[in-house]
Amino acid sequence: MGVSHAHNYRQSVTSTLEVQLRYGIRDGNPVHISAITPEFNGDKCGCVCPACGKGLRAKTLGKTDRAIHFAHRNASDCNAESIVHWTAKYLLEKRIRDAIHAARELLTDGNCKSCGGKFTVDLAKEAMRVEVEKRLDLYIPDLTTFDSNGKPLLLIEVVHTNPPSWNKLEYARTVGHELIEFKVDDDDDLRDIEKGECLAAHNLTPCRSSRCGLFDMEVNSKVTNKSHEQSSESGKLEIENKLNEKNKSTESSSNENAIQFPVWLMWLIGIILSWVLVSEIKKKLKYLMQVRFNRL
Ligand SMILES: [Zn+2]
Ligand SMILES: [Zn+2]
Repeated sequence: MGVSHAHNYRQSVTSTLEVQLRYGIRDGNPVHISAITPEFNGDKCGCVCPACGKGLRAKTLGKTDRAIHFAHRNASDCNAESIVHWTAKYLLEKRIRDAIHAARELLTDGNCKSCGGKFTVDLAKEAMRVEVEKRLDLYIPDLTTFDSNGKPLLLIEVVHTNPPSWNKLEYARTVGHELIEFKVDDDDDLRDIEKGECLAAHNLTPCRSSRCGLFDMEVNSKVTNKSHEQSSESGKLEIENKLNEKNKSTESSSNENAIQFPVWLMWLIGIILSWVLVSEIKKKLKYLMQVRFNRL
């Protein structure tokens, strides 16, 4: 799935037209056209279309293995994309349901689209049931596994032409469920889902790697927030520094005051001294005057 089928939209549409209706649904289970024996050819196959639910006829007689297929009994407006999409959902549901009932694991692995880091997920882990298109809050995943308390475990998306929207991925991140994507382009991809030992997944959100780009993005946003905090802190520091500078200048001015104080003291001492001196001179003068008057 995926890697070897890197082709553009036009090519994938062509390939889905080639693969349409290799699976019919009988009693809720997908049945590959190769499992239809000649006695159940035509209208006797008992299968309905995975996409529209209308009756199918098997076209097996006189055809090679690669050419056998189902066809709608009556004209249908089913398109190849919805047939591939629904077939993949039925196949995944059956694989997961069988694994849960057999208490086996159902491993799938892939590489993160963002960082390329490898992940392995057991689709049946802790699961008690699997549901197709079960609404969770605002979002309807293609498939959801639930634990014994009815709590969603794993969200599964079948990707054909359009990857899951950012809203879906954001939902998975927000609620803390892992969202695993399966890219299904052609009949080989569907066969892989039906029979593969370890299913090839296309992406896992959120990525488990701490070195992932998306992880980095989140961490970076936190770091950016932190740096914002830091910048506001540095702003605070700046203000503190300015305050300190101001305090220092106040201190220094008070230091200047301290330096100026002895000058005032000196002035005071000077005044006192000069007052003492003047009074001494006055006394001297008075004495001299008295002496002079006494002489007179
Ligand atoms: Zn149909
Ligand atoms: Zn990653």
